[in-house]
Amino acid sequence: MSSQSRDADVIIIGGGIAGLGAGLRLKDRGLDPLVLEAESRVGGRMTTDRVNGFVVDRGVTLFGNGFGSMRALVKRLRLSPLVCKGKFSVGIQDATGCRGYRGGRFADLLLDRGISWRARLASVRFGLDLLRHHRDLVHGCSTRSGSLDGEDARTYFQRIGGEEVFDRIFLPGLNGPVGGAVDTSSRVILMQVLWNLLVRGQWNLTDGVDRIPEAVASEIRVLTEARAFHVEQKDSGVQVEAEVKGKQQTFRARAAIFAVPGQLVPAICPSLPEEILAVLCRTQYSRIVNAAVALSTPPNTPYAGYAFTEDVVPGAEIEMEHLRAPNRCPIATGMAGVFLWDTPQRRRLDAGDESLKQQASDVVEQNFPECRGKVLFVHLVRWNIGIAQFPPGRLRQMTALRKQLAVWNSPFDLCGDYLDGLSSEGALRTGEEAAHRTAKKLAQ
Ligand SMILES: Cc1cc2nc3c(=O)[nH]c(=O)nc-3n(C[C@H](O)[C@H](O)[C@H](O)COP(=O)(O)OP(=O)(O)OC[C@H]3O[C@@H](n4cnc5c(N)ncnc54)[C@H](O)[C@@H]3O)c2cc1C
Repeated sequence: MSSQSRDADVIIIGGGIAGLGAGLRLKDRGLDPLVLEAESRVGGRMTTDRVNGFVVDRGVTLFGNGFGSMRALVKRLRLSPLVCKGKFSVGIQDATGCRGYRGGRFADLLLDRGISWRARLASVRFGLDLLRHHRDLVHGCSTRSGSLDGEDARTYFQRIGGEEVFDRIFLPGLNGPVGGAVDTSSRVILMQVLWNLLVRGQWNLTDGVDRIPEAVASEIRVLTEARAFHVEQKDSGVQVEAEVKGKQQTFRARAAIFAVPGQLVPAICPSLPEEILAVLCRTQYSRIVNAAVALSTPPNTPYAGYAFTEDVVPGAEIEMEHLRAPNRCPIATGMAGVFLWDTPQRRRLDAGDESLKQQASDVVEQNFPECRGKVLFVHLVRWNIGIAQFPPGRLRQMTALRKQLAVWNSPFDLCGDYLDGLSSEGALRTGEEAAHRTAKKLAQ
């Protein structure tokens, strides 16, 4: 394909943080990338809505101190002045009351008088396991943690005598971050979330997380409202058919990177090898709703987040958005982010938007009586493709796929969170990795 007949060196399908990260790396390597993003803005699940003076992060709400690639990206984009440290503490409410745990303070678990000595002993075992494996638990480095991917979280806690600590603390406390699937997740996922977010601590951006994808998009070529629907190999390169602002358009390039959730790839590119299509088809995400409840008075709470056992409030958790970073809410107001998901007992998310808004208000008003009658509005965000799911063995399967991609003689590559855990850091690292592989292939 001559350079005149090409629209770009590499076309990236999907402008979430994985695709944008890939684009920036390709540009660094002297290549000309073009990102096609279906929506009217970039960022995918890392976007922010601004409503009546409230700043609502729609998907990603926080970054872990171990998110090295994200931190490097923020520095490079000159966004470091916006970084603020997060102090996280969670109150877990069960039928006996509410007990609090602070981020980075493992001793809170050991000194917790509300759990038995056996549970405390299991917490020690768990803590030692975290320390022993911490290098393999960094998000985006799951290729190293295959040996931990053999059992689900519940089985693991049973094995170390920690059923109680699992049911009373980790199950309610971590269900939100894993999309309501702690029970069926690989134990390595639970360990990653705990290590990266709770043990190592967190950070955020004062103006909303979308500052990162927006800043990347200002440095590379991006077409929004450009939905790719067919991609194939053609004339020693690739051809991408897309609908751009309602009109069909054809793009040609030397290579393409799919930066969309894995299960969407087979319909766009059915000519990929059977074994890759089969693995991609098995990608699963859980649905989740983020309902931001704007309040005329902030709740009077000692904790930044609240989680509940199933018998108290099934399928919900609360995060205090006004405590997350400065400038999130107008002065003297507050905002509670209520995350809702389906449970085996209750399919919450089948309800209509108004019903979900009411459920979110109810959860806030019931838990903080001082907020009764103080709800200004509820801003609802539904994620049908929400949190990537990793039952035992899935991460190992993804590692095998990534090894295959490294030696694949094809103009195609893949990236996205589904290849490496459930965080924006994993997504970004897979994007950078795909860019590196693609640049290497094109240089040959
Ligand atoms: C409610 C919620 C809370 C979360 N909280 C956190 C958190 O606090 N911290 C954290 O690190 N992670 C969090 N995550 C996870 C994080 O959002 C994701 O891991 C990460 O943003 C995924 O990035 P991605 O680029 O892989 O995918 P996406 O962000 O989904 O990007 C894919 C992009 O592809 C586009 N697209 C799809 N099909 C096409 C097509 N045919 N043509 C062109 N474009 C297409 C989509 O519009 C989208 O923009 C959360 C997720 C959710 C849902």
